[in-house]
Amino acid sequence: MPYGTMPEPSHVTILYVVSSPHSGSTMLSTILGSHPEVFFAGELYEIPEPAWTPGVVCSCGQPASSCPFWGPVRETFERSANVEDLHRDEGTYRNWKSLPRALLRGSGSEGDFRRYAGRLETLVRSIAAQSGKRIVVDTSKGATRGIAYSELQSSGVDVKFLHVVRDGRGVVVSRKNREARVATPGGYAAHAALRYSLLWVGANLSYVLLFGLRTERYLRLRLEDFSRDPERAFQRLGRFLGIDLSELGSRVRAEEAFPVGHVIAGNRMRLRGEVRMRPEASDWANQLPARDRRAFFWVAGLTARLFGYS
Ligand SMILES: [Zn+2]
Repeated sequence: MPYGTMPEPSHVTILYVVSSPHSGSTMLSTILGSHPEVFFAGELYEIPEPAWTPGVVCSCGQPASSCPFWGPVRETFERSANVEDLHRDEGTYRNWKSLPRALLRGSGSEGDFRRYAGRLETLVRSIAAQSGKRIVVDTSKGATRGIAYSELQSSGVDVKFLHVVRDGRGVVVSRKNREARVATPGGYAAHAALRYSLLWVGANLSYVLLFGLRTERYLRLRLEDFSRDPERAFQRLGRFLGIDLSELGSRVRAEEAFPVGHVIAGNRMRLRGEVRMRPEASDWANQLPARDRRAFFWVAGLTARLFGYS
């Protein structure tokens, strides 16, 4: 079905935020979503399941099914696409294993993959139409989804990639702390730091290789850039998106809290009601044992230097 039948803003931009987990992308996207032209939609891969299944509560406090935002989005989406089809697609393309096939575009998968991209376009256009905002932010992070979004450039959707990098040592501490909270007592693996360092390297280098080569559509910023000099970091992001974000920088500097709007998918942070930029630069420093520092240095030292960490 042609998308022209849907009420839609003339220009839609997808800002696809990619990062290693625990890098602050939800916090940054929430802040960004307070700009009048930007809608932060959460991790959109969760929309068909679990977000659009019964029992899920939107960050506005309403059940997702009766939320005044996501209810109408679903109606609009279902006018030209099927939630079940999208659910099946997400199952197929969520995993990093689907990446080689998406990149190679074997003759059998081309049509399916193109249809997946079309469903993503329908979803994003439904969100843009309901919010009245032209920039939709998705923090799903999956690489294959980013390739699918790239396909949409030819159908008049502007696609941009924001790669948020956080100091990998901070990521290791965050992930270990999280693991210790959810694991059984005495739980986390002895090699957690090594594993998380490897994952940090793998994810960040993949994003550079997959999305970073077309510089007009890719911007890489460090979380530490936002916390040390928010005005400058938001100015750069604003130039990249073609909007003025200087006010956001000053509000972050003033340690203002930013409300979470209508988010039904992704990070638990959405249920806190508001977010505030925390000093990310050093809060991990005395929590990383010497053994973990050494593991990070050997596994990720070179990559860390590439991203400007000492
Ligand atoms: Zn809501």
